[in-house]
Amino acid sequence: MERWQHSLAASITGLEKLAKHHPVNEEALRPVVDRYPMRITPHYLKLIKGPGDPIWLQCVPDSRELAEDDLPTDPLDEERLSPLPGLIHRYPDRVVLLVSSSCPTLCRFCMRKSKTGTPPVSIEPGVKYIERNRAVRDVILSGGDPLVLPDEELEAILKKLRKIPHLEIIRINTRSPVTLPDRITVRLSRMLKRYHPLYVNTHFNHPLEITPESSGACARLADAGISLGNQTVLLKGVNDKPEVMKELMQKLLTIRVRPYYIHQTDLVKGTGHFRTSVKQGLKIIASLRGHTSGLATPHYVIDLPGGKGKVPMLPDGVKRRGRTFFLRNYQGEVVEYPDTGE
Ligand SMILES: *Cc1c(COP(=O)(O)O)cnc(C)c1O
Repeated sequence: MERWQHSLAASITGLEKLAKHHPVNEEALRPVVDRYPMRITPHYLKLIKGPGDPIWLQCVPDSRELAEDDLPTDPLDEERLSPLPGLIHRYPDRVVLLVSSSCPTLCRFCMRKSKTGTPPVSIEPGVKYIERNRAVRDVILSGGDPLVLPDEELEAILKKLRKIPHLEIIRINTRSPVTLPDRITVRLSRMLKRYHPLYVNTHFNHPLEITPESSGACARLADAGISLGNQTVLLKGVNDKPEVMKELMQKLLTIRVRPYYIHQTDLVKGTGHFRTSVKQGLKIIASLRGHTSGLATPHYVIDLPGGKGKVPMLPDGVKRRGRTFFLRNYQGEVVEYPDTGE
């Protein structure tokens, strides 16, 4: 076993074990864990400073997950958008291939939390689907976390995908740099490098997650020529304050990760306590735009219910009279801009 596999095996999955590290009410949380499994890597556990802190909220089960929140288990209609199990095809030129159903640390706010640990499906039909659909030029490997697969299995998938002539880019969406940084070995990075153009989108939600270990993991990927993006989920109590989000975005750039999206929390059953208002999300974006580098300013998107797609949200709609646009700058000043007469 490699070192990361030992770390993974040492993850906390039982409440008794968690109680040895932190004060938790085992009795109260047992039904939560029965419904939505828990898994916390030793690295991520180490980042918790105390009950209710931003790391704790993301990984420690909470009785509010069982509240009757009337939210659907699959608000994005991923089942309907799946022409076959494990493949989601919503947009014309790109598909999501679900290559694993688990993660090193199970996030309590996960959009696919009701599917955690479902038996793996064969990726073969998904590969065939992409082969048949010449419009697909971009595949996103997701799950679960694709990097829970051993190097050889992951490479077998990449190899098959790279044989498809019309498939231009491959993306891997993974939280391993944050929760299991050991996973990003030099060996893995060297392997991935053979399948360029390859993009990795990772998932940092709080500045406390930027550690020497996670920074090292990102550096190894970046040194292999992999462009790193970040998707953050807007989470109440974790990163719903402009100061926190700005620090996170700026720090990501220092570890060579480009902020890509801030996601409005999806309306997923068992995650209602993380919901933040769109108004607050817009306030956060307004606090970034113009006040810090454009590089540190991601798109703030709402993934519409029913699988209708992501919509970028911008503070202040553009106003227009005739051919004159009235545009608000980052200081709140409205400035006129004359368009061409065409
Ligand atoms: C978000 C998403 C994508 C990728 O969208 P990009 O905006 O290209 O990053 C593709 N398919 C589905 C189903 C998605 O939810």
